[in-house]
Amino acid sequence: MRNIRCLILLILSFPVLAGCPKVPVSGRRSLILVPESQELSLGAQSYQEILQQSKLSTDADAAGMVRRVGERIAQVSHRPDYGWEYNLLDDPKTVNAFCLPGGKVAVYTGILPVTRTEAGLAVVLGHEIAHAIAKHGAERISEQMLIAFGQLSLDAAMQKKPKETRAMAAAAYGAGTGLGVVLPFGRYQESEADRLGLVYMAKAGYDPREALAFWQRMEKNSPGDQPPEFLSTHPHHETRIENLKSWMPQALQEYEASPFR
Ligand SMILES: [Zn+2]
Repeated sequence: MRNIRCLILLILSFPVLAGCPKVPVSGRRSLILVPESQELSLGAQSYQEILQQSKLSTDADAAGMVRRVGERIAQVSHRPDYGWEYNLLDDPKTVNAFCLPGGKVAVYTGILPVTRTEAGLAVVLGHEIAHAIAKHGAERISEQMLIAFGQLSLDAAMQKKPKETRAMAAAAYGAGTGLGVVLPFGRYQESEADRLGLVYMAKAGYDPREALAFWQRMEKNSPGDQPPEFLSTHPHHETRIENLKSWMPQALQEYEASPFR
């Protein structure tokens, strides 16, 4: 019981420490129950673990391109102050990339044939960096915490199965202290990352119209009904293209005004 009380107190104290920040560009308020210090250390810790288990690419030109494009986008993002890091991971079969909380970016070599150009890579990095800036990882962890808390109070009220409750809460909280950082994102988060990412790539001086061409290539790249990992949790292709077109006028304005052009 003592552990459960501790956990409840911990969860209840989070809103005081964290809050409901506004996501840039979309203006949506998100519920974040994880203090930023914890979010950033989780991101850094997971990044180190992934790097240790991965093979870094020895292609200096491609790795340099990842850094160059990443730095430009990070610079125009809402958090240039993050401890940004960029790595190219040697894995030709993985058509994917990610940015962990705090600006820890990784690109798998498998996505490079689809990105083709720096502007193509800017689409991917804009999208992934947007996830980190919008704190989508911390938001997913917060959702898990709320689910755990809801289950916890129900079981506490009924005073039954304390052992299972503890195990479940521990598992849910455990998800928030490690693996949770890489929980798959929800559809609305994917859409938000598309929108914010489009603005970021444009601000960084990459033609945002390239996003349409990139996602068309990505769609073609997926054989049958087995989409690559990068697409699997992402919005429906046609919906995504329609959304991108509707955000394009704003993105083109940012592109015209970009200091990088
Ligand atoms: Zn995404």
